[in-house]
Amino acid sequence: MKKFKVNDNCISCGACTAIASDVFEFNDDMQATAIEGANVLEEMNDTTKECAMDALEGCPVNAIELVEE
Ligand code: SF4
Repeated sequence: MKKFKVNDNCISCGACTAIASDVFEFNDDMQATAIEGANVLEEMNDTTKECAMDALEGCPVNAIELVEE
């Protein structure tokens, strides 16, 4: 399955957490992170999937990845 992940490039701009708040949140260090259990592509409904893909494509520093696990 494919999971959304956020890598260390994140500059905490807040775009992904605004676009796809069901999938991304800020952790205590104010870095965006994918919410474990809510970040599985195949388990998302169409709306959430679309928002998550928009977040991936819109991240200004390419910090969001789809990782096969
Ligand atoms: S859009 Fe990218 S840089 Fe902005 S908070 Fe999300 S992961 Fe970080």
